[in-house]
Amino acid sequence: MTLDQLPEIAPPQKPSQLTQPPLDSWRSPKLDYDLAIVGGGIVGLTLACALKDSGLRVALIEAQSLEQAAARRQAYALSLLSGRIFEGIGVWPQISPNITHFQRVRLSDADYPKVVEFRPEDLKTEAVYYGAEHSVLITALQNCVRQCGTVNFLCPARLISVDYQPQAVQLKIEMAGQVQTLRAQLMAAADGARSRIRQQAGIRTVGWKYWQSCITAVLKPEKPHQNIAYERFWPNGPFAILPIPHNRCQIVWTVPHTKAETILALPSDQFLAELSRHYGNQMGSLTLVSQPRLFQVQLMQSNCYVRPRLALIGDAAHCCHPVGGQGLNMGIRDAAVLAQVLQTGFEQGEDIGELHLLKRYERWRRRENWLVLGFTDFLNRCFSNTFLPLVILRRLGIQILQTIPPLKRLMLRLMTGFLGRIPDLARHSVEK
Ligand SMILES: Cc1cc2nc3c(=O)[nH]c(=O)nc-3n(C[C@H](O)[C@H](O)[C@H](O)COP(=O)(O)OP(=O)(O)OC[C@H]3O[C@@H](n4cnc5c(N)ncnc54)[C@H](O)[C@@H]3O)c2cc1C
Repeated sequence: MTLDQLPEIAPPQKPSQLTQPPLDSWRSPKLDYDLAIVGGGIVGLTLACALKDSGLRVALIEAQSLEQAAARRQAYALSLLSGRIFEGIGVWPQISPNITHFQRVRLSDADYPKVVEFRPEDLKTEAVYYGAEHSVLITALQNCVRQCGTVNFLCPARLISVDYQPQAVQLKIEMAGQVQTLRAQLMAAADGARSRIRQQAGIRTVGWKYWQSCITAVLKPEKPHQNIAYERFWPNGPFAILPIPHNRCQIVWTVPHTKAETILALPSDQFLAELSRHYGNQMGSLTLVSQPRLFQVQLMQSNCYVRPRLALIGDAAHCCHPVGGQGLNMGIRDAAVLAQVLQTGFEQGEDIGELHLLKRYERWRRRENWLVLGFTDFLNRCFSNTFLPLVILRRLGIQILQTIPPLKRLMLRLMTGFLGRIPDLARHSVEK
């Protein structure tokens, strides 16, 4: 039976080997769950998987069927820390053979011949970054949740209303044409950038829409991509090439809105000719594997990540420019940190929906996310600028970065997630 056919919302069974909290008195037997996660994208699934052995009773509510959720044709630059988190969860053996391990990341400024080249040796790791397709990540996480006795995966099921009460949060969900009610101590909103939960809770955001859009497409180059990724900055915006398995590459091409629509309307041969001007000829001729798609890009940060009985994670809490491939990686870290805070609180007998406990998650993640949001915004603005003194300065910066290893390492640690505080889930594999 697939999860789409689940007939009704039933509280999950609790396997006997799960650890029990020392104090159980706060836990109302009237509640169906300890935690309800809304949104079974990669971030929501990561949170559910991270809590699989915690003893918490979890409901995961996802509006799309498993197949629809996995069908998104997108690839991500996955950071080393995200890889460690997946290793800690136990899904890495399913993911690792089906992704690329970047052996070089080359950062350059338009036609300027000097480049910054990041290599695994810089951090003494097996790769600089990974190139992973959405379907590979989400399928591994979906399978993990489906095998887990403490998570009830309600899918497809859509949240329709929420009622925040002093001791619980009550959710009305629609599943298989029926409206059902469930109560939990805490709701985690992982419902994406346009989070209705965030809006309905009245949580305000700061940020802006960029003057640029992003075109993405998957290509097959004539020559082997050799697991080399490129981030090339043009005056119109950054242009990234991510190597993915079976000698394919995903491009993330940032251009101003009007130009993006013109490019997207081009016939395939002209699209590829325009693309080659930015892509270069290092991999020979190109063939389109997927239809090019257009994305709007924005910077957004929520004024707070938590309220009593509510925590925001992933794109529901923040969004950034795709330059440097950070958005999903931030969300995966949010999920690992929230899981750690909840598990610690649960083991100490605390109410996991209380604000003072949730604030530990907010204090940890919001500041770190600001750093990444600021850095991606700086990169995009600085390199999309043709003001000559700035061009000279940033080209000097490229040379300095390439020749001073500690500086290069610092930037790499920021991009790969190792500059912040490392969640316990990733710590074991980092210390190996
Ligand atoms: C062009 C582009 C390139 C990018 N490249 C990278 C990259 O290389 N690396 C990187 O780290 N990030 C990248 N990102 C960012 C990344 O795509 C996002 O940060 C990430 O997908 C967010 O995941 P999420 O799980 O938070 O949200 P989503 O993927 O949006 O998932 C939200 C889920 O919630 C469900 N949902 C919504 N409402 C309800 C409801 N009422 N009831 C039940 N379910 C609901 C939806 O069905 C969905 O499955 C890129 C973004 C863009 C636009």
